[in-house]
Amino acid sequence: MSSPRLCVLGPSGRMGAALVGAAAEAGLAVTAAVDRADAPSIGAKVGGVTVTAALADALAACDVYIDFTTPGATAAAARAATAARRAAVIGTTGLDADADAAVAALAEVAPVVVAANFSLGVNLLLGLARQAAAALDDGWDAEIVEAHHGRKVDAPSGTALALVAAVEAGRGRAAAHAHGRQGQVGARPRGEIGVHAVRGGDVVGEHTLTLFAAGERVELSHRATDRAIFARGAVRAAAWVVGRAPGRYDMQDVLGLR
Ligand code: NAD
Repeated sequence: MSSPRLCVLGPSGRMGAALVGAAAEAGLAVTAAVDRADAPSIGAKVGGVTVTAALADALAACDVYIDFTTPGATAAAARAATAARRAAVIGTTGLDADADAAVAALAEVAPVVVAANFSLGVNLLLGLARQAAAALDDGWDAEIVEAHHGRKVDAPSGTALALVAAVEAGRGRAAAHAHGRQGQVGARPRGEIGVHAVRGGDVVGEHTLTLFAAGERVELSHRATDRAIFARGAVRAAAWVVGRAPGRYDMQDVLGLR
């Protein structure tokens, strides 16, 4: 299908608004928009449709829904979409076990793209991190620092966790993770991966993986300055996912980077 009909969840949110803009930019029709029942956007028009709280009706009116909301909303939407066998693009981060299970059940019956970060640059960074970790042994100390705006509710970011997974995949084994350090933590164990979250201001998203060795270091960084990059990637994923076999996909699949 070349021009799928989109349903945007949370259109009053920062990402929801960016998604409506990115869909218009890509020439894709938003045919439904759903927000929580008490959201100020209920009844307003976005992208030519009226925002509603009626999830099942909205899913019936689209080919694929895009979800950047909250873990609870993501779980509820995935359950409704499982009944409707609707394709999905899911960008909500900090998913709990309930939301993870609901998304896994949806992926049994419909194609689903899930990514902690929909930007092209970050997905390239993940590939480079994996390559670097494969080339260097774990005597190179891996430390990840991420920065986001002060309203972000989960830490570390989903992208920082994806970087941890990329380093582990490159090394071919799991590592101990140190989330921040405080007190008498002792000398840094070989192979540990450090993860540190910085919060403040209006930072859209910054991630740096540093690999330290005696006498040298390698830094791989990505800085996002406009959340439109995530929305454009998600709209691209929506156009890609419709018509695929049921299953869970990520942006490496969408961008052909695997
Ligand atoms: P936000 O708080 O601005 O927006 C959240 C939206 O979800 C709001 O409109 C809210 O009304 C809506 N919502 C809440 N419950 C709902 C429900 N039951 N049904 C429908 N809508 C509901 O947050 P944001 O900054 O837009 O971020 C949203 C999520 O996206 C966060 O988890 C964030 O970490 C994630 N995010 C992911 C990426 C990525 O590339 N994967 C990029 C940026 C943000």
